[in-house]
Amino acid sequence: MTASEKADITQDTFLVGLGASPGISIGETYLLNRARLTVVERPIVEAEVEKEVLTFLDAVRLSKKQLEEVKAGVTDRQLAEHLYIIDTHLLILEDQMLIDDTIEIIKGERVNAEGALKRTLDRFRKVFDSIEDEYLRERRSDIDSVGNRLLRNLKGETQQALTEFDRKVIIVAHDLSPADTMQIDKEKIIAFVTDVGGRTSHTAILARSMGIPAVVGLETVSSIVPGGTPAIIDGTNGTVILNPSADTFREYLKKKQSFEYLEKELLSYRELPAETTDGYRIALRGNLEMSDEVPLAQSQGAEGIGLFRSEFLFMNRLLPPSEEEQFQSYRQIVERMAPHPVTIRTLDVGGDKFVPEINLTDEANPAMGLRAIRFSLKERRLFKSQLRAILRASAFGRVRIMFPMISGVAEIRSCKECLEGAKAELSAQDIPFDPQLPVGIMIETPSAALISDLLAREVDFFSVGTNDLIQYCLAVDRGNEHVAYLYEPLHPAILKALEMICASAKKAGIGVGMCGEMAGEPLYSLVLLGMGFEEFSMNAPGIPRVKRVLRRVSREDGERLLEELKQLTTAQEVARRLEEEMGRRFPEIFGAPAI
Ligand code: PEP
Ligand code: MG
Repeated sequence: MTASEKADITQDTFLVGLGASPGISIGETYLLNRARLTVVERPIVEAEVEKEVLTFLDAVRLSKKQLEEVKAGVTDRQLAEHLYIIDTHLLILEDQMLIDDTIEIIKGERVNAEGALKRTLDRFRKVFDSIEDEYLRERRSDIDSVGNRLLRNLKGETQQALTEFDRKVIIVAHDLSPADTMQIDKEKIIAFVTDVGGRTSHTAILARSMGIPAVVGLETVSSIVPGGTPAIIDGTNGTVILNPSADTFREYLKKKQSFEYLEKELLSYRELPAETTDGYRIALRGNLEMSDEVPLAQSQGAEGIGLFRSEFLFMNRLLPPSEEEQFQSYRQIVERMAPHPVTIRTLDVGGDKFVPEINLTDEANPAMGLRAIRFSLKERRLFKSQLRAILRASAFGRVRIMFPMISGVAEIRSCKECLEGAKAELSAQDIPFDPQLPVGIMIETPSAALISDLLAREVDFFSVGTNDLIQYCLAVDRGNEHVAYLYEPLHPAILKALEMICASAKKAGIGVGMCGEMAGEPLYSLVLLGMGFEEFSMNAPGIPRVKRVLRRVSREDGERLLEELKQLTTAQEVARRLEEEMGRRFPEIFGAPAI
C-alpha cells in the first residue's frame, strides 16, 4: 500500500451497502484476496484421464480435511451452534452429483479436472439463480464456498487464514465463506465488508452471532478500497466511511460509545422478564423464517416463537415438502425452543409471497386474491398434510397453530373442521398429538378487525399482523415505494382497529398479541401496552430494546398516552406527540442524536 494509493480515496467517502451485523468499528482496512479464481479448461488425452480423476478426488479429500480442521478449532459455544453450516459444506463435498458428474465430464468429455468441476458448479448455480426467495438464493453461496475451496485445492493454491493478523483490522473482501467467518479471530478482526451477500447469507448470520459489525452487498468495495485505508464501518445502517475527517471521526466515536453502552445494558436484560412497573408480564417472542434462526432467537431471550412463517419451507422447490419433512422441521424447532411455545402459522403464499410451483393461477390482483388461508382451503390435500405435520410436532413440545388472513367466521370454522379431521385421522392411526393444541388466527384484514368480537368466540388467541392490516386498512400496497408515504402505522384508523381487536379479545377472555413489524419497534411499545397487548413477536434482535422500554413503563402510562393520542386527527400529529413522549422518557433511544 503506497501513500499515493491511499490519497486516491477522497476524505469522507461514503459507501452504502446492507447492514448485516449491527455496531460501529473504526480502524484500518485489510484487503483479503478472495477474488474469484480463474479456471482454465483444457482438453486432455486418454492417458491423462485417470490422473485428472485422482487429482480431483484428492482435492475433495483435502477440502474435507480442511473443513474438519475448521470444525475442530471452534471452541466458542455461540459459534459451535453454527457448526451445521460447515456440516452442510461437508455434505456438499459428499454429494454424489457433484462428484459423479465431474468425473463423468473428465472421462466423457475429456476435460481437465478444473474445467470439469467448473461445468458441474455452473449447473448447480443455474438452479440456485432461478430462485426468487432471498434466503434460499443465498444458499447458493454455500455451493460457491465449497466450489472455491475445491478449485483452490485443485490448483494447489493456499488461502490466507483469518487467524494470522498481528493487529486489529477491518477485513475487505469480495466474499467470505462461512468457514472463513468461523475462523475469525474476534480480537483482531473488528469488522468486515464484502462486495456480495445479503442480510440472510450465512456469513451475515454468523457475523451477527459473533457480534462483529458487518456491511455486505457493497458491490465493488474490494476493488476500490486499498488495504490500509482508515475506515468507519456502521453495520447498523450499512454505511462505510473511508478516510474519515476529524469531525466524522469524532461523531462516530460518540455513536460507537453510546451503541456499546446500550448493547452492554441490553445484554443484562436477556434473562429478565418483560414486566412493566405495575406488574404486567408481556411475552416477547421471535419471528422465524428458518430453523437456523433458532439460536439467534434464544440468544436474544425470546420466550418462544410467536410467528413461524411456514411458507418458507415451501419455497423454491419443485414439489411441496411432504408431511414427514414438515413434521421433522417443526419438531426440530419445537424441541429446540422448549419449554417455550412455538406458533406455527399455516402456509401463507400468494400476494407478495408468490411461489410459482404452487401458486398456479395468474391473478390480476394477487394481494386480494387466492392468498394464505384461501389457498389452503382450496388445496385441501396440501392443507391436511400440513395440519397433520403440525399436530404430530405438538407431541414434542408446546405448539400453537395459527391461520393467516382470516376474513370471516365461516373461514375459521372451515379451518377448525379440517383440523378436527386431521386429529381424527391421527387418533385412528394411534399417532400422538396435543389434543389441547391452542388455535389462533392472524388479524390482518379490516373485516377481521371489525368482527373481532365474533371471531374471538371461535379461537384461543389473536395475533395482529400489522404488516397486512395496515396495507389493507389504508389500501396501501406494502411493497409499493410510490405509496410508501401513506403506509402509516400511527394512522388514527389503525390505532382504532388495534384498540378494537384488543377489546374484543379481552372481552372474550382470549390471548392477544402482535407479530407484524410494529411489534418490534420500541417507539410503539408503550401505546400498544396501553391497548392491552400481552405478547409481541418480532425479529429476534429487536427483543432487548422492546424489553428495556416495557420494563420502565406502566400499563397505566400507556393507557393515558393512548387516550391522549386518540384525540389527535392525523398520523403526523400522533407521531409527533408519541416521539415527544418517548423521547422524554428514553432520550438515549428516541431523543435527538447525541452529537
Ligand atoms: C403481517 O402481515 O403483519 C405478518 C406478520 O405476516 P406477513 O408479514 O408474513 O404477511
Ligand atoms: Mg401477513
